[in-house]
Amino acid sequence: MHGKMKAALKAEAAPGAKFALLEIPKIGLRDVLIQVKAASICGTDLHIYEWDAWAQSRMTVPRIFGHEFAGEVVAVGSEVTSLVPGDFVAAETHITCGLCYQCRTGQAHVCRNVQILGVDRDGAFAEYIAIPENVAWKTGKEIDHTLWQCRSRHLRWRNHQQNRCRLWLRPHRSLGSRSLSYIRFQYHLCHRAQ
Ligand SMILES: [Zn+2]
Ligand SMILES: [Zn+2]
Repeated sequence: MHGKMKAALKAEAAPGAKFALLEIPKIGLRDVLIQVKAASICGTDLHIYEWDAWAQSRMTVPRIFGHEFAGEVVAVGSEVTSLVPGDFVAAETHITCGLCYQCRTGQAHVCRNVQILGVDRDGAFAEYIAIPENVAWKTGKEIDHTLWQCRSRHLRWRNHQQNRCRLWLRPHRSLGSRSLSYIRFQYHLCHRAQ
């Protein structure tokens, strides 16, 4: 798919974020392109928005951030077998390589090459995102997307319990004294996205 999309971009190594018009991402052979229908703001996004010590040490800019989302598949790579355009999916946040020792021995949750959406590669605060097929979890169309992007955490946890893990559990932290920032950030996103 060609064209531009709106995205919340961490454009500079400084607090804040910008809205930008960017190219719709290209997909690889095993990728799917998703039109994002709902996204949630995680504590990680706050670190990035505030550009605190963790964010400064962890990532580089420019980067589209956001990693918890659900949406509709609008294009698939030629080697994708489990999804077709029109499917609804929620995404796994951690993209593992499938090649390292850990991945090959059933321990992908400690993949040495793991990439996190919205941190190590472009994320979901955008109209479209490209992700590998194997981190896109098909969901029921009858269920509201705003529920699914929250449920994606629970899916991860259940997989972990069943020892089929791609992922690990990391509980949400309380926003605590940072709630003001959170509200400001949310306002910024909602207001500017319209
Ligand atoms: Zn998160
Ligand atoms: Zn790996």
